Amino acid sequence: AHLDRITAIDAKVGAFLHVSSDRALQQAAAADERRAAGKPLGPLDGVPVAVKDVLCDEGELVTCASRMLEHFRAPYDSTVVAKLKAAGAVLVGRTNMDEFAMGGSTENSAFKKTHNPWDLTRSPGGSSGGSAAAVAACEAPLAIGTDTGGSIRQPAALCGIVGMKPTYGRVSRYGLVAFASSLDQVGPFARTVEDTALLYDAIAGHCDRDSTSANMEAKPTAPTIDEPLKGLRVGVVPEHYADGLDAEVKAAVDASVDRYKELGAEIVEVHLPNAKHGVATYYVIAPSEASSNLARYDGVHYGHRTDETAMHAELAAERKAATDAGDKAALKKIDSALVRLYRKSRSEGFGPEVQRRIMLGVYALSEGYADAYYLKGLQVRRLIRQDYDRAFEKVDVILGPTTPAPAFKLGELVDDPLSMYLLDLYTVAANLAGLPAISLPCGMSKSGLPIGMQLMAPPLEEERLLRAARMHE
Ligand code: GLN
Repeated sequence: AHLDRITAIDAKVGAFLHVSSDRALQQAAAADERRAAGKPLGPLDGVPVAVKDVLCDEGELVTCASRMLEHFRAPYDSTVVAKLKAAGAVLVGRTNMDEFAMGGSTENSAFKKTHNPWDLTRSPGGSSGGSAAAVAACEAPLAIGTDTGGSIRQPAALCGIVGMKPTYGRVSRYGLVAFASSLDQVGPFARTVEDTALLYDAIAGHCDRDSTSANMEAKPTAPTIDEPLKGLRVGVVPEHYADGLDAEVKAAVDASVDRYKELGAEIVEVHLPNAKHGVATYYVIAPSEASSNLARYDGVHYGHRTDETAMHAELAAERKAATDAGDKAALKKIDSALVRLYRKSRSEGFGPEVQRRIMLGVYALSEGYADAYYLKGLQVRRLIRQDYDRAFEKVDVILGPTTPAPAFKLGELVDDPLSMYLLDLYTVAANLAGLPAISLPCGMSKSGLPIGMQLMAPPLEEERLLRAARMHE
């Protein structure tokens, strides 16, 4: 049924980069056989799951929506994909994303645009926009995304679904193509909090192959999901109501605060004085790590390689011209074949936003600047974490908006990177501080666009976070 749905509507939505129909039908048939034979079933047995095109799935393409990896097939399974297979899931296909997960609209994909199912002229958000759109459009009941600075929560909010970024270290990053390793987390998308919990339970837990994996069992969250939290203290943050928050989003979040009051929660004001530095800090640290992680794609070790015959011909022609002109200075300036191979391969393989991030990162890490930018960024990151530690002495969860406004038009922001970066205002802190955070629907704008709210909890408190979210539904 889901494959039929994809065939019927994905030409309009554009959620998928590849659909694995044959394998999905085999996996579904195997699940049917298990059921018929009365064999024990996995927690997601026979349930379709869409996966962002950034996690390795043995033998399948993993493009990261980049020309650089257009033909790359995964030689092994990421831990998350292996866990999904072990849970009995049917992996329907690979979803569109911003190239290497850099962006907030999915417009940075090298291959296609994804449209918001609520209004096809609008962005689904990003970078996991394909996964969010697939779930919102009922092309899959569940999907996997990744969140480095908001890429699960922001598209969940803009597409009217639930999306959770787990605690840093809760879900294995083994086999995840790295963007910013100290911020990246894999997490679930679903249409309800309970489904989110079931998918999270299937992928969470310690992994020996990820050196930053939390070394403890992840207790299943689904069994207690319907138990309301007694005496819940919900934190609200005046700093969240800074200029630029859309009036309808503010009203919807305020209504959610009232809802928690009705449910018997205590509402407590808490302060996050360094929240205003979140975006600046994130856009120093994330590009720095990205520039280092993406150094491997040079056309020799990994990734797209430029047409070498054309490159050598170009080089020979330049050398000949300089020699004929007797211009020794020009001759000296011509790159070696190897440098030219790297430069051309990277220029062709990476899109403009990825190149921008690499330049920002290399600059922030360069000698003479690293102390002023990168190390300063790490110091502010620590202050942001301390703000949360203090706030969580007084409250159990923190409630606020996920995004400053509902879904924007495709094309509206893509040429204005700074405005796009500012949309990450409410989401980056959870990554910088390593906290779990969830976005869930909390209303609709007058023009019929979904509005999301965000709940955050202390590290490793996913169970509390999900139960608090479930109470609100
Ligand atoms: N929008 C943010 C960025 O562009 C977040 C991306 C992400 O979480 N992968 O970096």
